[in-house]
Amino acid sequence: MNVQQEVVFFCWRCGQKFAVPGSLQGEPLKCPACECRLTVPTKEAFVDQKSPAPNVDPLVVTENDLTFNCEHCNWEIIMDKRGAGMILPCPGCGELIEVPQPPQASTDVCVDINV
Ligand SMILES: [Zn+2]
Ligand SMILES: [Zn+2]
Repeated sequence: MNVQQEVVFFCWRCGQKFAVPGSLQGEPLKCPACECRLTVPTKEAFVDQKSPAPNVDPLVVTENDLTFNCEHCNWEIIMDKRGAGMILPCPGCGELIEVPQPPQASTDVCVDINV
């Protein structure tokens, strides 16, 4: 723990590469290139890919955000609800993943539901 390693990851939206100090793991970050919201992945996300990590941070996620995990590598992805249904390359493993529809909010009337 005495040597700070950099965490290198990519913006899921624009592909911008980041290298941040390990101390920023799990911290929210705004992509300077496309201004989307990112979360610096934790080392656990790299190492322990098989078991889901309890790393949902309520401080980072707002009502307008969706959080979901990559079905391939379990990478936690946070994105705006408006991105639901988009197909994106996972920042963790590069597989294409579909952003799930947000859970229905009782206060919100969504006209786009076509289940
Ligand atoms: Zn970006
Ligand atoms: Zn993945």
